[in-house]
Amino acid sequence: VDEAIKTRWRITAKKVYDEMKILLLTCSICLSTFDCPVTIPCGHNFCQNCLLSTWTESYSCPQCRTLFETRPELKKNTVLSTVVETFRVRSSKTEGGSIFSVRKGCRRKSSHSSSSIAAH
Ligand SMILES: [Zn+2]
Ligand SMILES: [Zn+2]
Repeated sequence: VDEAIKTRWRITAKKVYDEMKILLLTCSICLSTFDCPVTIPCGHNFCQNCLLSTWTESYSCPQCRTLFETRPELKKNTVLSTVVETFRVRSSKTEGGSIFSVRKGCRRKSSHSSSSIAAH
């Protein structure tokens, strides 16, 4: 029974983690993963191009609607872009799979190499 609860928890935690990841890495304008993420003074992140496309007449945050009197300086969110890149690499690697299949893959790899060496 304990194992079942643990498994259920693990699945729930993974789901929450995935949702958080999507939430944190998704641009609220184009609703896809950030492309060149930038941070504005209110703390929200958007793709640079998406944000610039909304700033035609006034400068406001599309998410919290904070109005900026002057065009805020765009700061490239290097941390976020690194995370996005990592996420992209991982999601392409684990396509159709999960975090667990990656772990299994690692284990399989080590057992495979030991069996191919065999002589040792
Ligand atoms: Zn966008
Ligand atoms: Zn904002």
